[in-house]
Amino acid sequence: MRPNSRKSLIKPRSQAFQAQGGRCYYCHLPMWQANPEQFAARHGLTLGQVQALRCTGEHLVAHKDGGGVGHGNIVAACWRCNHGRHARKAELSPEQFKNHVGKRMKRQGWHSEGLHRLKGEGMCPDRARRGAPSDTNFDTNRCVLVGARVR
Ligand SMILES: [Zn+2]
Repeated sequence: MRPNSRKSLIKPRSQAFQAQGGRCYYCHLPMWQANPEQFAARHGLTLGQVQALRCTGEHLVAHKDGGGVGHGNIVAACWRCNHGRHARKAELSPEQFKNHVGKRMKRQGWHSEGLHRLKGEGMCPDRARRGAPSDTNFDTNRCVLVGARVR
């Protein structure tokens, strides 16, 4: 990704993140946008593990093929899926890649060990409420805990 295209992605990426309930377009695992520590703590993962679940903006029609950042062309995808798609020799279309990831997810061969279980759990609001301190609320739009202690 070119550095100057990065900034313009922030808003559409964050809109896509909300529209997708905080889940990756391809693998459907929950992602984090700005707070890996909180995300790791909430899901019982290490900071190293959650790097793969950083929310990135993914062009459905690639930038180089004329795809812009307009509504509908940007989806939120985790780092692993975003890089996995573009690292392929022959780049798959978004639909093909979604199928590819879906098959790998089924046999738990896409993400590193420990991450696949996030998919089997309920949607993250339930998950977060269950383990959340009583003085916090869950913001279902942003898929984050509100009022949690900040370290
Ligand atoms: Zn993903």
